[in-house]
Amino acid sequence: MDVVRMDLADTGSPEGLVSLILKHEPSLPLPVPIEELALQLEVEEIAELKTDGFEGGLITDTNRSRGIILVKKGVSEPRRRFTIGHELGHFLIANHVPDKDGHFLCSKADLRTLSAKEGDRRAKMEVEANRFSSLILMPPPRLRDAFKRHPSPSLEHVFELAERFGVSKEAMARAYAAYHPEALAFVVVKDGKVGRVYHDGKRFPFVVANRGKPVPQGSLFYKKGLQIGIPSQIDSRLPDIWIDVSRDKRASTISEQVCLQQNGFALIMLWHESTEDEDENEDMTTRDRWRAQQERYRRD
Ligand SMILES: [Zn+2]
Repeated sequence: MDVVRMDLADTGSPEGLVSLILKHEPSLPLPVPIEELALQLEVEEIAELKTDGFEGGLITDTNRSRGIILVKKGVSEPRRRFTIGHELGHFLIANHVPDKDGHFLCSKADLRTLSAKEGDRRAKMEVEANRFSSLILMPPPRLRDAFKRHPSPSLEHVFELAERFGVSKEAMARAYAAYHPEALAFVVVKDGKVGRVYHDGKRFPFVVANRGKPVPQGSLFYKKGLQIGIPSQIDSRLPDIWIDVSRDKRASTISEQVCLQQNGFALIMLWHESTEDEDENEDMTTRDRWRAQQERYRRD
């Protein structure tokens, strides 16, 4: 690796930092070697975190003249990688201030914080560290390449990319919703209830599923015979199961794909398509087109 910490001086944002890193390291392998990158950028050591109740930490000082990244022992490799990326973010983002003892200590909730209220400085640092970690582990140019090679969205593809980029399925679903050219949303389900929902607010604005409420009736989630770990077929559903149709100015179809997971979890992909601009293939349903695309993908 050639990138040095000096190359990143004067850059404050996660986006700015990651694009500079990628500029200096245009051919980073996948999964991105995050530990090696941290050491290259002057992190002294990656050690075991022994403080209970936290996922990761960073020992540093106000000037960030040194840094030791701490990670909880025994976590899965994707989680460990995400935590290292997060702590590296605290280390590199210039205005992140450690507590008075020169520590950052980050909980599981911190590692999931995606938005912060105005004026909540600590939450804002967590949001930025998470954004840095996502961007460096799943560099958008590499994701776009993957979408170009395989344009039809599916949970199979999310899982395949999660493996290839060395991230959790959920982290990949989040990035997939943000960067895939199709309008997608991912719903994390736990014990039959709607949990976190990831979608691009501009392209997929009308998800109405409420957190903590049961998965809406009519969802493919209730289909009989689904097997853990095996994604269902993708299928069109009535749009009003998932979206506020009155706010959706375009006539649209919603397709859904479900994959049950271990421990009562499930992941649902929603695919929102406007039916107005379908000039070609007018007689094909979404499902038909999806099948045709999958066919093409298999042949490639
Ligand atoms: Zn943190």
